[in-house]
Amino acid sequence: MGGRLLASMSLAVLALAQQPPGVPENAVQRVSDHVYAIIGFPNIAIVEGSRGTLVVDTGMGPKNGGVIVRAVGKLAKTPNLYLTTTHFHPEHASGVQAFPESTVLIRPAVQQEEMERRGQEFLEFFRGLSAQFKEELKDVQMRKPDILFDRELRLDLGGVTTRLSWMGAAHTKGDELIWVEGDRTLISGDIVQNKLVPNMPNEDASVKGWIEVLDKLAQAPVQPRFIVPDHGALGDGALIAQQRAFLADAQSRALALKRQGTGVEDAAKMMTAEFKTKYADWQNMNPLANIVRRVYAESQ
Ligand SMILES: [Zn+2]
Repeated sequence: MGGRLLASMSLAVLALAQQPPGVPENAVQRVSDHVYAIIGFPNIAIVEGSRGTLVVDTGMGPKNGGVIVRAVGKLAKTPNLYLTTTHFHPEHASGVQAFPESTVLIRPAVQQEEMERRGQEFLEFFRGLSAQFKEELKDVQMRKPDILFDRELRLDLGGVTTRLSWMGAAHTKGDELIWVEGDRTLISGDIVQNKLVPNMPNEDASVKGWIEVLDKLAQAPVQPRFIVPDHGALGDGALIAQQRAFLADAQSRALALKRQGTGVEDAAKMMTAEFKTKYADWQNMNPLANIVRRVYAESQ
């Protein structure tokens, strides 16, 4: 993996993790009729039906996973528990062992393949970022999913239907988005966030792919009222267009600089300075450098 790509990812991860350290206890908030969220690092979504509960993401390692299991215990009407992960990165997927053995683990096949290929590498990388992450990721045990799906899986939880979908590579190859139909709530992973610069940790991330996914979301006949991203503040359906506009702007500016013969690292520096002013209310412009590198690589 490109050392430089991961080095800029560490800055992005640490900036995000500084807010609350992990998944906080007793912090469940209601988002819509059937959807709840715990705002932390990362955000966790819980969809509650009359026949079962779906948890989206596990938190970092078993300790944070345990916080979620306790929260679900207070909320759930039945013991039927489903778990899915928005992507394979450790803060989203390494707490599985804290969940009861009967938990039905569901994942897109692409995400599972990516986890098997790169999961250990990312665990090692995160352990090196801080003493806290090292402690949280010390006896991580992964397990095979019970259900794999290719593009879409509908899950009826009783009174609420969720649609789990894989729409192509963006932040990772295996990003999953979860649509909670009646609630018009989208659990968007890293794909739609609220004024956070998209993170492209390595060459599996795709600027083109990410924009395509956002276009598919924008074309859906029913638009979300609520969006629960993996990181940062919740928002409404307008986040989709906001996210697309930022990525398209970064892509076209980088392509223009490339056409003028500007070297990729110079372009990354110039654009970081420009975008800090242009998008002054977006936190932390560090991840932009990797977007520029991806645009250059994708236009070869
Ligand atoms: Zn991630």
